[in-house]
Amino acid sequence: MQKGSIGVSTENIFPIIKKFLYSEHEIFLRELISNAIDATNKLKTLASHGEYKGDVENLKINLSIDKENNTLTVSDSGIGMTEEEVDKYINQIAFSGAGEFLEKYKDNANIIGHFGLGFYSLFMVSKKVELTTLSYKEGSKAVKWSCDGSPEFTLEDAEKTTVGTTIVLFLDDENKEYAEETRINELLTKYCKFLPVEIAFGKEKEWKDGKYEETDKDHIVNNTRPLWIRKPSELKEEDYNGFYKELYPASFDEPLFNIHMNIDYPFNLTGILYFPKIKNNFEVQKNKIQLYCNQVFVTDQVEGIVPDYLTLLHGVIDSPDIPLNVSRSYLQGDPNVKKISSHITKKVADRLQELFKNQRPEFEKKMGRFKDFHSVWNGFRRKILRKS
Ligand code: ADP
Repeated sequence: MQKGSIGVSTENIFPIIKKFLYSEHEIFLRELISNAIDATNKLKTLASHGEYKGDVENLKINLSIDKENNTLTVSDSGIGMTEEEVDKYINQIAFSGAGEFLEKYKDNANIIGHFGLGFYSLFMVSKKVELTTLSYKEGSKAVKWSCDGSPEFTLEDAEKTTVGTTIVLFLDDENKEYAEETRINELLTKYCKFLPVEIAFGKEKEWKDGKYEETDKDHIVNNTRPLWIRKPSELKEEDYNGFYKELYPASFDEPLFNIHMNIDYPFNLTGILYFPKIKNNFEVQKNKIQLYCNQVFVTDQVEGIVPDYLTLLHGVIDSPDIPLNVSRSYLQGDPNVKKISSHITKKVADRLQELFKNQRPEFEKKMGRFKDFHSVWNGFRRKILRKS
């Protein structure tokens, strides 16, 4: 067994991170699952280049909890790591990231969704983390790394015969909620609904003899091919309306119109925006646009990315080109983000022009009997056209 000390300068870095991100402990799950997805996608890429011969068809990520022992476990079948890689990526890179993070943001906690916090964010909720991994590389040996949040860790040989990584979090006393099924389901709905690799949590249940019984089929929590990544030419109005329901299960209204964005130059952005049916209470309907980065949910506060007067629209924007590990004030001045914002505005303006020109009767019909709606949309349209 190897013992060592992680290269962080402050002994007590984890308590600081814990306190600093007090209200956002839950994002550890997004970080954990994002790493599992990256590892899975890397293995698929290797396979597509002929550098890995194993089967990559149905790679899943498994999530499980043990309420009695207060543990949460995430297992992937991704590329895994060799002993040297654990030392490099976990001991050195991930933990130097912790130091840099604190240095950079100690006076500025307002970072978009605290994106990209990384591996060390697991220590916001754990008193111990164990990582067991087997690399895809031929002849690799499985290793187990274990760390209790102090800079000391251990690294030893392990029993693992399948390629990939399993991470067990031993939750600390203040964070036992993450071993509760309802809490995890809530987080999976928030962060993982549209992730690109299947995530299994628990088993499907079946109604049998007057009660629900578990089957042996995995319960998959996410839709790996959300509508916005599909081709508009393949989609029908019902698909868009169905997806609106998937985004806002509590809404009973159908949206009026949609805009499917698919931009790959000069930046990458996909998404679907909806014109909702306007109700009397505008405020409740505002700020419903969700921002994703490669299908990972980041935030539903898009100010700075979408102009203020468009926050009445609903839907999804997904872009890897929006810098997410920066503060909001920085974001608003970022030239790329300005370009994205004006492009979205232009798309909305074009769609409104088109509706007014080609589908005016339908538009007016959908606006409904209420004069109020009409005047709101007209005002809205004038404003957008002026800005575009
Ligand atoms: P980032 O993901 O932003 O690079 P992290 O701190 O989350 O930073 O992770 C550090 C590195 O550890 C990753 O870049 C990756 O090489 C490795 N790693 C983390 N989790 C896994 C995993 N589940 N499988 C394989 N490698 C992993």
